[in-house]
Amino acid sequence: MKQVSVGVDIGGTNTAIGVVDESGHVLTKDNIKTPDHGDIDQYIQDLSAAIRKLITNAKMLNENLEVLGIGIGAPNGNYYNGTIEYAPNLSFEGIVPLVELLKKHFDDLKAVALTNDANAAAIGEMIYGGAKDMKNFVMYTLGTGVGSGLVVNGDLVYGADGFAGECGHTTLVPGGRLCGCGALGHLEAYCSAPGMKRTAFELLVKYNANNSLLADKSYKELNSKMIYDAAVQGDKVANEVFELTGHYLGQGIADTVHHLSPEAVFLFGGPTAAGDLIFKPTIKSMEDHLLPIFKNKIKVLPSKLDAGDAAIVGASALVWKELE
Ligand SMILES: [Zn+2]
Repeated sequence: MKQVSVGVDIGGTNTAIGVVDESGHVLTKDNIKTPDHGDIDQYIQDLSAAIRKLITNAKMLNENLEVLGIGIGAPNGNYYNGTIEYAPNLSFEGIVPLVELLKKHFDDLKAVALTNDANAAAIGEMIYGGAKDMKNFVMYTLGTGVGSGLVVNGDLVYGADGFAGECGHTTLVPGGRLCGCGALGHLEAYCSAPGMKRTAFELLVKYNANNSLLADKSYKELNSKMIYDAAVQGDKVANEVFELTGHYLGQGIADTVHHLSPEAVFLFGGPTAAGDLIFKPTIKSMEDHLLPIFKNKIKVLPSKLDAGDAAIVGASALVWKELE
């Protein structure tokens, strides 16, 4: 029998589902809209039907499949309770007992588990990716927000209530930019994709940079890909955006290193596609902020998870971790 698990990534717009094998390959995948189901019971009903259909499809390709369980990644996912709690970008309100509801449809499976999306990415890196042989590492996910997953002594750190590892909300600049969470100066307000955009506009104003390739973009349209494209063409403002983003990120990572002494820090998400543009200043700043006992020891690496399927693959890895 070939053992597989199902990964489910619940996002504000789409819920992506995939059947994933032991090596982290997606055998078949599908998605449903997250908000279009009226209430949570109908959503669970439709999600269960989509998962069943996908399992049937996978078994048509290979009848010797054994499905071990379902792993779910969701914003504000609480591993201990199997709940999604007050997720700001989801259409579900309050505390949703997602695992309990889903288990009613899948009592034949060995494991149904849920955690937040950054934790799922970290477990994916540990089970299938670049952290296979590591017991201590950290994952930073850069996107609309900045998430993180902390692995210590081979285990993901969940903390007392299941929400450990919110490195994106550490204070980087006292009294600084307003963060999406409502506090001031958090790392996420500087190092997320929207944070990079905010940096770009600050620099355009600072240099009165009418000749920058970014100068004719509106605030609404500018995104991190445009900043990357301009930086590659030698645009001064765009290059300084990456320098500053790396500077802030390295400062935050150095603090995480001081707390946990990891072997490596993995960076995941859209802005990491910029390669050296983001990695070089991040590593330099991290080294500048580290205690001497940590200097030149900590690897800062791109995630080895395939960007397109990483959320599904990461979520599916939860099942293997559950059954270890
Ligand atoms: Zn915050």
